[in-house]
Amino acid sequence: MSGTTATTAREVAEEVLRPKAQEIDRKRRYPKEGLAALGKKGLAGILIPAAQGGLGGTLSDLAQACEALGWGCASTAMCFLMHACGTAVIGAKATAEQADAWLKPAAKGKALATLAFSERGSGAHFYAPEISAATKNGSFVLSGRKSFVTSGGHAALYPVLVNASGEPGLDVIVVTPDLPGVGFDGTWDGIGMAGNSSIAMTLDDVKVPRANIVGAEGDGQSLVFDVVAPTFLIGLAGVNVGIAHAALEEAAEHAKARRYPTGQTLADVQAIQMGLADMSIAVEAARRLLREAARAADAGEATALPLVMQAKIAATEAAASVTERAMRIGGGQAYSRSLPIERHWRDARAGAVMAPTNDVLREWLGKILTGLPLF
Ligand SMILES: Cc1cc2nc3c(=O)[nH]c(=O)nc-3n(C[C@H](O)[C@H](O)[C@H](O)COP(=O)(O)OP(=O)(O)OC[C@H]3O[C@@H](n4cnc5c(N)ncnc54)[C@H](O)[C@@H]3O)c2cc1C
Repeated sequence: MSGTTATTAREVAEEVLRPKAQEIDRKRRYPKEGLAALGKKGLAGILIPAAQGGLGGTLSDLAQACEALGWGCASTAMCFLMHACGTAVIGAKATAEQADAWLKPAAKGKALATLAFSERGSGAHFYAPEISAATKNGSFVLSGRKSFVTSGGHAALYPVLVNASGEPGLDVIVVTPDLPGVGFDGTWDGIGMAGNSSIAMTLDDVKVPRANIVGAEGDGQSLVFDVVAPTFLIGLAGVNVGIAHAALEEAAEHAKARRYPTGQTLADVQAIQMGLADMSIAVEAARRLLREAARAADAGEATALPLVMQAKIAATEAAASVTERAMRIGGGQAYSRSLPIERHWRDARAGAVMAPTNDVLREWLGKILTGLPLF
């Protein structure tokens, strides 16, 4: 299972994602063809159970697929990851009707999912949304604004995090863009992940059928921490290992190709050799930690939670440092944007500030290490 999923993801990354990555970045356009190819190959169903037409994959499968896709095109990989998170959260508690209406088309790549969790106010603390949902005539009525919604305006399924019960507690309600009052605002202008359309979603008195809630009222807390958090952290770590690996390869290729009039190449310079060595250690260490974290999470081991947090921090910080070093090896050519290295550098800046952010994860890890409660 793992081998097949990872191999398919690598093939799509090589054949479809990588050849288009520069153009998607430059034009800041949504990576439709990459997502369509992933749907065609069945990867859109990576975390959807086989009974609903998916691959029934594991977090280890997700880690390897995201690594391959992050290597090919980080924008496409982010949209794919948010789709995987969206389908995982729906699938965790889907009723038979929800599975038929949402998961079956999602598994075929016909309905793209994402997460609409973040808000301007709650920021890094997305698990404390300000949007609440009133109940009126048998519907939830949602008003407010979600920020940074990846695939905003392109996705078909938006699990929105709210407090519907009015009690302390969280709820995940699936909003579809056909509902009156749903809108999207702005265009994505982030320094990296240029194609991923992380824009604001506006909800203006949107009446959502009560049947669109995932699980029962108040289930949102466990959906966020038991389903979304491990899926997102492992997938994002994979995307970042892929970005770091791509930057290492580009830097090594540039070092071999860049020749001085003396006949010496950059690869002949010892400082460059040592830089590449350090980069390879960072990539491999992050990759190994991620695979162990995903394995432990799949096995339900008690140490999985801190490992998953460590893996996200290690992978995103490896991507940041490896791409920084790659920029130096690429020199003026990297800076002048004639090499793809600067795209990897920009793409690698997102990981640390994506929630749970590395700062917040460090705080949680410290609490785990000292036996304190997380909240
Ligand atoms: C490319 C991209 C795609 C995204 N896609 C999605 C998506 O699809 N769906 C979605 O819901 N969200 C998405 N997000 C949002 C993301 O996950 C974060 O929630 C968001 O970036 C937080 O931004 P903020 O500036 O408001 O954070 P702030 O809360 O303002 O935090 C700013 C900084 O302060 C630090 N900080 C805050 N509180 C603490 C603390 N207690 N201790 C230590 N440090 C702290 C943070 O670590 C951070 O570095 C995306 C973001 C990006 C960049």
